[in-house]
Amino acid sequence: MYCPFCNADDTKVVDSRLVADGGQVRRRRECLSCSERFTTYEMAELVMPRVIKTDGTREPFDEHKLRAGLQRALEKRPVSIEQIEVALTQIKHFLQVTGEREVSSRVIGEEVMAKLRELDEVAYVRFASVYRSFQDISEFQDELNRLKEFKPVAAKD
Ligand SMILES: [Zn+2]
Repeated sequence: MYCPFCNADDTKVVDSRLVADGGQVRRRRECLSCSERFTTYEMAELVMPRVIKTDGTREPFDEHKLRAGLQRALEKRPVSIEQIEVALTQIKHFLQVTGEREVSSRVIGEEVMAKLRELDEVAYVRFASVYRSFQDISEFQDELNRLKEFKPVAAKD
């Protein structure tokens, strides 16, 4: 591929490894002309189901939008980019194995919430509060209570 620094058309791969739980290949490349190094990420482009929105309209699955949603929920939280990419890969895999040609945005939202709950509770509540657009504060409190039930309970003796 072309060098992003000098546009020379000859670059070589100096390092290659699997990332995001094997869902992506990260390559370090070096320009043979200016010797600058840069990184590329390669991932399989598989056919994703179309998304059925709540108003019944359909739109193509948008990975960038999903990544942005995850990043927004996880802003300033102790979760790495790598963990986000793994979650994204798992959500995409989940959608592919449904075998459906169309999937409702609600199904995607629930899957995102399940992943966020595993990663970070604060991010989960952030996402859930926007996604479910809680009607009132008691509904939000119910969700928080539900969350607490997920925490391991100390054994009684
Ligand atoms: Zn170059």
